[in-house]
Amino acid sequence: MTKNVSEMFGAMVFNDDVMRERLPKEVYKSLIKTMATGRTIDPSIADVVANAMKDWAVEKGATHYTHWFQPLTGVTAEKHDAFISPVGNCKVVMEFSGKELIHGESDASSFPSGGLRATFEARGYTAWDPASYAFVKDGTLYIPTAFCSYTGEALDSKTPLLRSMDALNAQALRILRLFGDNSTKRVDITVGAEQEYFIIDKSMYDRRKDLVYAGRTLFGAPAPKGQELEDHYFGPLKTRIAAFMSDLDEALWKMGINAKTKHNEAAPAQHELAPIYATTNIAVDQNLLTMEYMKKIAEKHGLVCLLHEKPYAGVNGSGKHNNWSLSANGKNLLDPGKTPEDNIKFLLILAAIVKAVDDYQDLMRISVAYAGNDHRLGAGEAPPAIISIFVGEELNALINSIVENKTYHGAEQRMMDLGIPSVPVFRKDTTDRNRTSPFAFTGNKFEFRMLGSSQNIAMPNTVLNTAVAESFRQFADTLEGAESFDAAVAKLIKDTFSAHRRILFDGNGYSEKWEKEAARRGLSNLRTSVDAYKAFMAPKNVALFSSLGVMSEVEMRSREEIYFENYSKIVNIEALTMIVMASRDYIPAVEGYIAQIADTAAKKKAVCEDVSCAVEKSIIRRLSELNAQAFSAVERLREAETEASSIANAKERAECYCSRVLPLMSELRAAVDAMETLTASKAWPVPTYGDMMFRV
Ligand code: ADP
Ligand code: MG
Repeated sequence: MTKNVSEMFGAMVFNDDVMRERLPKEVYKSLIKTMATGRTIDPSIADVVANAMKDWAVEKGATHYTHWFQPLTGVTAEKHDAFISPVGNCKVVMEFSGKELIHGESDASSFPSGGLRATFEARGYTAWDPASYAFVKDGTLYIPTAFCSYTGEALDSKTPLLRSMDALNAQALRILRLFGDNSTKRVDITVGAEQEYFIIDKSMYDRRKDLVYAGRTLFGAPAPKGQELEDHYFGPLKTRIAAFMSDLDEALWKMGINAKTKHNEAAPAQHELAPIYATTNIAVDQNLLTMEYMKKIAEKHGLVCLLHEKPYAGVNGSGKHNNWSLSANGKNLLDPGKTPEDNIKFLLILAAIVKAVDDYQDLMRISVAYAGNDHRLGAGEAPPAIISIFVGEELNALINSIVENKTYHGAEQRMMDLGIPSVPVFRKDTTDRNRTSPFAFTGNKFEFRMLGSSQNIAMPNTVLNTAVAESFRQFADTLEGAESFDAAVAKLIKDTFSAHRRILFDGNGYSEKWEKEAARRGLSNLRTSVDAYKAFMAPKNVALFSSLGVMSEVEMRSREEIYFENYSKIVNIEALTMIVMASRDYIPAVEGYIAQIADTAAKKKAVCEDVSCAVEKSIIRRLSELNAQAFSAVERLREAETEASSIANAKERAECYCSRVLPLMSELRAAVDAMETLTASKAWPVPTYGDMMFRV
């Protein structure tokens, strides 16, 4: 069966084409204006838009609608209402009003609010975000919304993101105007999120309580083979995986998601999907939908998709690369230009980003900090916990020559009138990219590589947008008042690179040497999530978010609370799962196996008195010792868990989970994993690493 991709693409999305076709011209124009410039829709057109949306959705088989939002749980939330409205005797009509489209109210008491919403005021409000497209999924019209409290504080990750886009747009426009660009109406912030994931057979998954409860394996000795042969990376797709990926592509295309690239990743049973980039808020929605579809479609194939950052110890974990750029009138602002003017503009924007990342290293780190990602960052596979920027050899040399007032000797380079060398023409070359860099310039975009695979990408983009907006704000303030614009720009570029050059690093980010060097340079190194969260409320960070209208101090405080709480909850679930698995599965299984061997030895002796039982004795001794260690670790883990969970203060609780509970979890794991290698396959109660990774 041939598939008509262009016909199916976006078929379930109420996108620009559908709007143009279905809305009266004036209404369409007004809506497009709302999408391009502001966030609130003119109430007089809301009924018309709602009705058109409903008619379209009903044709696509929808019976319900939902306000779709992103509470601070990291996942999405929805509550479905039917379109039906009763008329007369046992009859209904399908109705959907402008009011229902624009505004929703839901009981929000069970969503995390970090103390923002007093329990007596449990209502939360959802408001349509007209800049994100509505869509139909599983018989329901989904309306992307922002979610806030009665008093208007954001209870979601979408609202600050939209505000950060507005802030960056406003400040970037000031810069563009200075370069004589009066035509750009809105600076588009583009994001492409490459998504990594693991696939496992459903029957194996179901037998692993750790995967079911915690999303990652908490036990498991390494398989004889890992990723060392590098035979999986970009290898041919297994039939079953290929069928899953093909279904996934189709589902995503229908949702208007440009799923473009798919391939095997480094670890066995690990894969990646990359879409074509989109405007940030749309990219965020699409990434959340992509993750949802990955899980759902895997199930249809008898598989389970693992989005956890570190499902298996000892092989690579899964991250998400957040490719980020700015564009004006369809032109990428991170494309070094050919004219001297474009060249200077590019260098100024580059300087703004370098400054932003240096000034707000801690926020960048915090935006990717959570319990699951702690198993990757700094663990010799993902970028370290230290933020640095890779710009490549050529740009690095260029920046140094600017700072040091030296002639730049790059290939075919020339000095421009302002004493600033021209930017080299980049070749798109994948071979020399530094994969160890957390934040890398890759020719015409920056790639933020520290994100974990399960996370909502809203916060990292909120931080990035806001920090760059602040650089632009300062730049515009300086330049708008300058006597000579040209001289002021040249000086600003030079001064900024001089002040922030320390954040540039092109070497091996995984090495110990870099950790020492980074410390010498005064770069921040927030090793654990808990360390990172403590830096969130630093006065400079509060000033940043509040002055640009992205988050108030109260909104930040609530997020800080949720960070700590969430961390503790995750480690707590993991600890309890380990206790259950060890006490009820592993320890009894090993006891049973010991009894079996003892039985064998006794039977051997009964038949033949002088037979050697050295093997049985040795196994029994070693396993008994390890089982005693496991038992002791369980007991101590229980105590630590009780102690940690009883701490009232969120920060202190998280600290206790991090410093006291986690090490005991490692100790327990070590004992159990050692027993696994000594116990007969048949006697082991759960699938092994080899089973899970190689039998898909
Ligand atoms: P890789 O990093 O694996 O080599 P690519 O260079 O193909 O992959 O790009 C990865 C991602 O970057 C894709 O999602 C792509 O759409 C996105 N991307 C490309 N250009 C931009 C841009 N200007 N802004 C944001 N994302 C972009
Ligand atoms: Mg990449």
